[in-house]
Formats: sequence, C-alpha cells, structure tokens
Amino acid sequence: MTEVPDAASPPARRLLLVHAHPDDETIGNGATMARYAAEGALVTLVTCTLGEEGEVIPPELAHLAADRDDTLGEHRIGELAAAMAELGVTDHRFLGGPGRYRDSGMMGVAQNDNPGCLWRADLDEAAGHLADVILEVRPQVLVTYDANGGYGHPDHIQAHRIAMRGYELAAGRGHRVDRVFENCMPRSVVQAGFDALAAAGRSFPFEGIARVDDVPGVVDDEQVTVAVDGAAYAGHKTAAMRAHASQIAVDGPFFALSNDLGQPFFAVEYYHQVHGTPPPQPLPAGDLFAGLTDGPAADGAQGEPR
Ligand SMILES: [Zn+2]
Repeated sequence: MTEVPDAASPPARRLLLVHAHPDDETIGNGATMARYAAEGALVTLVTCTLGEEGEVIPPELAHLAADRDDTLGEHRIGELAAAMAELGVTDHRFLGGPGRYRDSGMMGVAQNDNPGCLWRADLDEAAGHLADVILEVRPQVLVTYDANGGYGHPDHIQAHRIAMRGYELAAGRGHRVDRVFENCMPRSVVQAGFDALAAAGRSFPFEGIARVDDVPGVVDDEQVTVAVDGAAYAGHKTAAMRAHASQIAVDGPFFALSNDLGQPFFAVEYYHQVHGTPPPQPLPAGDLFAGLTDGPAADGAQGEPR
C-alpha cells in the first residue's frame, strides 16, 4: 500500500499527517489531502493504530467489534485504503507497521492498560518510527492534533506527543520540518455549520444533533493560521467518509459518528501553527506551504533553530 516517492525527483511540496485511527484523517483533513494530492504534492499519512476498539455503526458489521470477533482493525485497513483511493493519496502507512500499536479505547476504559496499546507505548520508540518516515519523506509541513488530541481520546493525545517528539528527533537526525500545524476549527464556522444543520428543517437518520463543543479542536477564530479551501474536493472527502462505513454515517452535507449525533460537514479545513516561520500576512493564509521556497530540502541539511 505504500508507494515510496522517486528519490531522484520527489514532489516539491511534501505534506505529512499524523493521525490516531483510520477515519480521523478524512474527517479532519480529507479536503486538504485531496487538494494537495491533486496539485502534485506528496501527501503522506501515518496512522498510529488500526482503530480496533472503534464502535461499529452498521448492524451487518457489528460482529467485527473488539468484544466479538475482534477483526475490526483488519477491516479498517481496507476502509482506509479505499478512502485514500478516493482522496488520491498513495502514500499511507501505519506507525511501526500495521498492528504495531493497538487502539487504546476511550479515556478511562480497561483497554487503556493493554501493554500493546498506543497509550502505553514508549514515546521515544514510537516517535522514532515517525522520525524514520520524516527522514525518508522530508516533508516541509507536518499536521497533527492539539495537545488534547482535539477531544481527549488517549490515542489522539498520544499521536500529538508522537508527532511533536518525532519532529524533534528528526530535526536532530538531519531534517527539520519547516512548519508544524495542529488541526483546529474556528468557533464561528462551527456555530454557523450547526445553525445550517438546524435550519435545514428536515429529518435526519441520526438520533440527535451534536453541539459545538462536540467538535474536536474548536478554537477562537484568531487562532487560525491557515484555512485550506477544499470546496472543489468536497466530493472526494464525502466519498472517503463513506469508505469508512464502519465508523461514519453520511447523510447529504451532514454526518454522524458512533454517538449518532448529526454534525455539519466542512470542506474548508483549518490549521493552527505551532512551529516554524509563519506564512506571509495577512493571516489566515490559504496554503500550508505559503511563502516556503519550493524544491526538495538539500540532502543532509541540518535544520536551523527558528
Ligand atoms: Zn480517532
């Protein structure tokens, strides 16, 4: 499933995303990934677990769940591959290989203590796997969650820590990523999305409607460094969401996760920068790479502290 870029002529722009479970990349960054892939950038996804502990939505797939056949992880490898085909992303990998780190379940459940789970992983070892990918791909831009993992899931928190530690380790080994971003959603946009959902005035197949605070990573609007308009790729994002059928129910411009609460779909995706030189003013910029010089980083170049 991994297509290693031609080392002689890698794409000039290289974007690396670090996520916890299959489906998180599509919900958070699907339009961004589709847009940059279509524009010829190298888009590399590293997913930290197979999402084995996810709740299964379709009744016909219920037997896959961890408390039954425990084959959900294998199934989600296929869902992820199908979603990446919809987004045009060919380079997707699992941290340390498929199944190296198991889904830790929601915060506070017994699975948090599973010695093989991501929450129990040795940080430097896990981040070392990511640093290997960073040194191979040499991305200018790294995207992950905020320190709370967007909404407090242990695997999302750990993915953030691994991304930040991997960034440091890779810098020490010869490649400093130019910019590190955290996914975010400006409060006004999320509120407008829920207002639109309420105003749609039609019935939904979902049990209820989520609230603004149910959306991961909501921030004050001025925290946004980059807003990537992926409206032209909304169809790709929706198709990729449908590919994650065990986890996401899509209904027109709205969707629901296993809590069955309807949420608005967003084709503009937002980023808060935490490392590196910011894009040129005015902010928010429209491009994660704005102002960065094109071209592959020189081999063996030492990253300079910024
Ligand atoms: Zn997740």
